[in-house]
Amino acid sequence: MTSCSPEHPPKRADVLIVGAGPAGLSMACGLADAGIKSCVLEAAALSALAEPAEDGREIALTHAGMAVLQKLGQWQDLPPSEIAPLKRAHVFNGEGRDYLGFDAEGSGREQLGSLVANHWLRRVAYQGALQRADWITLRADTRVSQLTLNSDAAHLTLADGERLSAPLVIAADSRFSATRRQAGIGAQMRDFGRSVLVCRLRHSQPNQGIALECFHYGHTLALLPLNGDCSSLVLTLPADRASAMMQWGEEQFMAWVRTEVRGRLGDLSLASSRHLYPLVATYAHRFASAHFALIGDAAVGMHPVTAHGYNFGLYGVDTLTQLLASAHRAGQDLGDAALLERYASAHRRKTWAIYQGTNAVVQLFTDDRPAARLLRRGVLQMAQHLPPLKSAITAQLTGRQPALLRQLQSLVQQR
Ligand SMILES: Cc1cc2nc3c(=O)[nH]c(=O)nc-3n(C[C@H](O)[C@H](O)[C@H](O)COP(=O)(O)OP(=O)(O)OC[C@H]3O[C@@H](n4cnc5c(N)ncnc54)[C@H](O)[C@@H]3O)c2cc1C
Repeated sequence: MTSCSPEHPPKRADVLIVGAGPAGLSMACGLADAGIKSCVLEAAALSALAEPAEDGREIALTHAGMAVLQKLGQWQDLPPSEIAPLKRAHVFNGEGRDYLGFDAEGSGREQLGSLVANHWLRRVAYQGALQRADWITLRADTRVSQLTLNSDAAHLTLADGERLSAPLVIAADSRFSATRRQAGIGAQMRDFGRSVLVCRLRHSQPNQGIALECFHYGHTLALLPLNGDCSSLVLTLPADRASAMMQWGEEQFMAWVRTEVRGRLGDLSLASSRHLYPLVATYAHRFASAHFALIGDAAVGMHPVTAHGYNFGLYGVDTLTQLLASAHRAGQDLGDAALLERYASAHRRKTWAIYQGTNAVVQLFTDDRPAARLLRRGVLQMAQHLPPLKSAITAQLTGRQPALLRQLQSLVQQR
């Protein structure tokens, strides 16, 4: 991949992408496959992109998310040992032993989804960009400091004062996107006042591909099944408590974890370092305007409890790529406002209800007041005994409609 500098002027780019996270790099790969040249601008060093450090995030991918990765050729680049099947999920509430169970039965799939470490997803996105070096220019160590939009193009000013212009700028610069703000687009922001602490655990009993989501009082604890008798521990706690726990020694931390996990996976030991993330969900007021579009967390930054953040990023990449590819074939302006609005409304349709639903679930299941405790129990019981609701959630993960709905649809089509 060419890293451009004034001595190596960039190949003319049709699209400028701010941010070489997994969403920005995947976007560049999709555009390259459509014959569209892009230049990706990234503040971090090239070494951080080529050899991304472990960050404790294990990403649950839906079938639709995996299909986009396959289309981009990134799925094929993942070592099979780094892909863990997510077969079932059990959701517990409070101190209760009963759980709400989800599996892929009736969806025509063998599993709900897969788990892949975030650093692997970043690595294959970078490799994808490398493989398309004729179409993608990556400029690492390059911070974008200003975006200016006018009627015929978008302009970026870099930290060193250099200016770049293109028909379209795509911002993929995280949920706290400065480019989004410079485009005059606000965002709904929800600071949960909590942090999520993640790490890997090794255990003596197999996890059987089952994810455990426990909404305890005061904190939530999830165990996501990985390969090799390991699971990812995801703890959601008030931010001050989470920071304090980061300071605990391994013994104190593991003693607490063992009490909370209640012997579920046998003997437990810590298998990685611990990582902390603040929990702030964001939803941009708009996803596009003339010569400008938002993707990835810059468009929708999810609370991780329903595991949709990067999946949404991939859906956005796919939708926007398809629209830009057909505009490119037709010789249309890639920055056309009406074209980009089609992306914005499609992405809103895919994400809005799940974003709001996730925040509502988080609100309810982190409320420990007596009335909320009753409601929590009621909601889980209702979901357990209301098959259509469970099927709808499963369908969201597997991308398949419930069998009953499929049969009804085919009956309607036959008539
Ligand atoms: C604990 C945790 C668990 C998660 N679990 C899941 C899950 O199970 N399933 C799921 O789908 N998602 C999950 N997610 C979400 C997922 O990790 C994110 O959606 C995804 O990583 C976002 O990728 P991105 O490329 O949009 O943004 P980022 O990875 O944040 O990348 C943004 C990039 O932009 C660069 N940048 C920023 N500003 C500038 C600038 N001015 N100039 C140049 N470069 C700039 C940054 O350096 C960075 O490289 C989880 C997240 C967390 C925190």
